[in-house]
Amino acid sequence: MRKIIKSKGLIIKVQDYLENAVLATILTENGKESIIIKGAKKLNTSTRRLGNVLTLIEYNHTESSGLSVLTEGVVVDNYTLIKDELLKFNYALVMLEKINFFIEEFTDYKTLYNFTISLLNKLKETSYLNAVVLIFQIKILYLLGVAPSFNRCPVCGKKAINAALDIKSGGFICEDCHYLKETSLNIEDSKLFKEIYVTKVNDFNDELLIKIDNHININKCVKSYYEWHLDFKSKVLDIIEKIG
Ligand SMILES: [Zn+2]
Repeated sequence: MRKIIKSKGLIIKVQDYLENAVLATILTENGKESIIIKGAKKLNTSTRRLGNVLTLIEYNHTESSGLSVLTEGVVVDNYTLIKDELLKFNYALVMLEKINFFIEEFTDYKTLYNFTISLLNKLKETSYLNAVVLIFQIKILYLLGVAPSFNRCPVCGKKAINAALDIKSGGFICEDCHYLKETSLNIEDSKLFKEIYVTKVNDFNDELLIKIDNHININKCVKSYYEWHLDFKSKVLDIIEKIG
């Protein structure tokens, strides 16, 4: 008999797979799993609700060195509150797009998983959608190993006081070195950037979210940061700009 494994995870991508099946990419606490869900494209099967992107499921699957097959599963969260609003759903997709793209680059999947779930829960209940997704993008820089250096000025190596973020230098440039070059963010916006980076997800209150939401300079900076350090351009953000 084949061994059955129990898992829980978030479906981050779904591709058609043979007849009536899908191949689901699932983010779990232990990393990525690729699972075949049979019957997911049929109308009247019990697996139909399981085979959709942005769905948290608990499932059993066969052990396999290649692709494993889902044997049974239940939906833990369908994220209806997100899926019912097109803009909210698209913002959630910005998060999934990055997770998919960088899935092999992460090492701490447990933190990534828990962080993603808690931000999706935040997205359900808030109207500051852009703020939530900015938080996601800034904080996962740590998990991707490309967070800016906050404490040491990348130009002179001194403690960075009243510092301003410069993307190409990869850090916060101290006040003495400011005159050397124009930074990507001014001092005030850099402070906010750092605050987003260090604040725990549960500590973001509405006051802070309002400050961050649709912040033009920080949005621009995050976009450029991903382009410069990770060679990544978001297709979903382009779509949001068009529909938003
Ligand atoms: Zn300096």
